[in-house]
Amino acid sequence: MSKRDYYEVLGVSKDASKDEIKKAYRKLARKYHPDVNKEEGTDQKFKEVKEAYEVLGNEQKKAQYDQFGHAGPQSQGGFGGFGGGEDFGGFGDIFDMFFGGGGRRDPNAPRQGNDLQYAMTLEFEDAIFGKETDIQIPKEEDCDTCDGSGAKPGTKPETCSHCNGSGQLNVEQNTPFGRVVNRRVCHHCQGTGKMIKEKCTTCGGQGKVQTRKKIHISIPAGIDEGQQIRVPGQGEPGVNGGPAGDLYVVIQVKSHEFYEREGDHIYCEMPITFAQAALGDEIEVPTLHGKVKLKVPAGTQTGKTFRLKGKGAPNVRGYGQGDQHIKIRVITPTNLSERQKELLREFNEISGNQPTDEHEDSFFQRVKRAFKGE
Ligand SMILES: [Zn+2]
Ligand SMILES: [Zn+2]
Repeated sequence: MSKRDYYEVLGVSKDASKDEIKKAYRKLARKYHPDVNKEEGTDQKFKEVKEAYEVLGNEQKKAQYDQFGHAGPQSQGGFGGFGGGEDFGGFGDIFDMFFGGGGRRDPNAPRQGNDLQYAMTLEFEDAIFGKETDIQIPKEEDCDTCDGSGAKPGTKPETCSHCNGSGQLNVEQNTPFGRVVNRRVCHHCQGTGKMIKEKCTTCGGQGKVQTRKKIHISIPAGIDEGQQIRVPGQGEPGVNGGPAGDLYVVIQVKSHEFYEREGDHIYCEMPITFAQAALGDEIEVPTLHGKVKLKVPAGTQTGKTFRLKGKGAPNVRGYGQGDQHIKIRVITPTNLSERQKELLREFNEISGNQPTDEHEDSFFQRVKRAFKGE
C-alpha cells in the first residue's frame, strides 16, 4: 500500500486544528476540482484530497487514523479501524463553496448513504483468537418492487412541476421594506424535486424498505475493546444512485475470571503453597494457548512476576504476539491439622522464631532493632 499520509496530503501538521484542516482541504479541493482544473492527474489528486479530509475532518475517524494509520488495520481482512456515523457532505460541500454559500444542495445529486454502527460484545477468548460470525442488522434498503424509485412498477417519478425539479420554491413576500423573495423547500415534493403519481405499494412511495440483513463479520485475532471493524458498503443505501455508507462494528470485550488484558499482554495471578515457594517447584500455569510448565525457584516471594514470552494476545495489526505475565501469590495455610501445626512449630523454633531470608536485611530484623532501640 503506497498511500500517502493524510496529513501530508493536506499539507498540515499532526496537531493542526479542525479549522486549519478544513481550510487546507478547501484550498486544495478548489485547486484540484476537475471542473476547474483540466490538467492531467488532477482528478486523482482531488480524490486523494477528498479521502484525506473524509478522515481528518471527522473527529472519530481522525482519532482512529492517528492510532492505526492506514496500512496496518486495512490489510487485515476488511478491518478498517475508522469510526463513522457522520454524514460527510460529499459533493454538496464543493458545490456550496463554488457557488458562494447561497446555493443549496442539488436534491438530485448522488449522495452517499449514512454509515451505520453496530455494537458487538465478544467473549474474552474470541477477541484474542478472532472469530467468523454473522450479525443481523436492521437496515434500510432499496425497495425491490420499484428499484428504489418509489413509483409503481411501469410508472416513473415525474419532475415536480411546482419547482421544476429544483426542490425549492421562490416565495414572494410583501414587507414594510418592499418585496422580498425567499427560497423555501418545495412542499409539493418535500424538496426531492420529484413527484410520484402512482406510489409503489410495497414501500408506500418511499423507495426504501426496512429489512433485517445478515452480514458476515470477520473478527481479526487480537482485537480489543473499543476498536472497530469497517464493513464497506453495508451502511444505509445511497441517495439518487450514490454509493452506500459503511457499517462500523464497535467491539466490546467481556472480562475474564482469571485473565486480565492490557494491549497485547495478558496478566494473571497464580497461588502457590508456602512450601512450594520456599523449596521451589515446577508448576502448571494455564495460558490462553494451553497449559505451560513454569519453574518457580526456591525462595520465591509473593508478588514475584514471571513472563511467558509469546503467550499473550496476537497483535491485531500483525506485529507479533504479546506475553503472559504471572504474578505469584504465596498462600498462608489455614485449617491445619495437629501434625501440621506440630511441624510448623518445630520449623519456627529451628528458624529462631523469625522470618529467614538470607538475601536481604529483612524488614523483621529492622523492626526488631527498632524495638530494642539500636
Ligand atoms: Zn417500492
Ligand atoms: Zn417540488
